[in-house]
Amino acid sequence: MPVYADAHCHLHHPSMRSQLETLLADKKKVHLVCAGISSRDWPQLLKLQRDMQSKHPHSCIECCFGIHPWEAANISASPDALAEAEARLESVLRDQAPSAAAVGEIGLDRAWLARQTPPCREQLWDTQKQLLAMQLSAAQRWQLPAVLHCVKAHGTMQEMLRKVPTLPPSFLHGFYGPPEALRIYADLKLYVSFSTAQLLKDWHSLDWQERGKPRWQTSADALPLNRILLESDSGPQADGSPSPPRRADQAAMPLAELYRCSADDILEQAGLNLASWLHRR
Ligand SMILES: [Zn+2]
Repeated sequence: MPVYADAHCHLHHPSMRSQLETLLADKKKVHLVCAGISSRDWPQLLKLQRDMQSKHPHSCIECCFGIHPWEAANISASPDALAEAEARLESVLRDQAPSAAAVGEIGLDRAWLARQTPPCREQLWDTQKQLLAMQLSAAQRWQLPAVLHCVKAHGTMQEMLRKVPTLPPSFLHGFYGPPEALRIYADLKLYVSFSTAQLLKDWHSLDWQERGKPRWQTSADALPLNRILLESDSGPQADGSPSPPRRADQAAMPLAELYRCSADDILEQAGLNLASWLHRR
């Protein structure tokens, strides 16, 4: 049976139910890696995993448990919130670590910080770093990889990754940054997916050949083909509404152009990469 694989999405969220049903109605085995973004939605992940086991036994969902950097707003509001978050993460990992895919989605986001009111920014940045350090060390302790979100903070992210040298090979999702940062992630043996939304937007633009392609080509040249993953990042948007319908395999065509191979080659290699990332233990 053909497989539809998505290395990073949030299709477990109730607002995404109709998009998930559309995927499951397709004549393919569906393999999803769903990332939790706070302890509030971890139960949804586990519920969907149970539902899939009983109603769609040919398909499966891999669960990642983490606290997203945008949660820094809730964590920094109370002095005990970080310790409470750590206790909740520890508890879910104690129960789920043998079958969990990763700790994630966790990370740093300076673009989000820039949208916050100036007096809070430094405190929120410190909270993001504390939250990430706590979760990276939990991932290392439980020998789970991390699913990383990083926007405009690659230097700090790389510094923090070097402090967890025995973390299993992790996955940076939705990359849209400088190629030199990508070279360092490749040296750190990370798997990386490019931002599907941005890649498709550029690929469909009129100046793809002149501007879009040269920029993405430099990124593709920095990342070996055996490190790429494909993702949709489908999930609720900041206002709670569902993201526009998007498929992970839509990135195969532009990537085929960048890696000078066929879209089928990209799909096959990304499938192998996902399997080797998930079965690293
Ligand atoms: Zn995500």
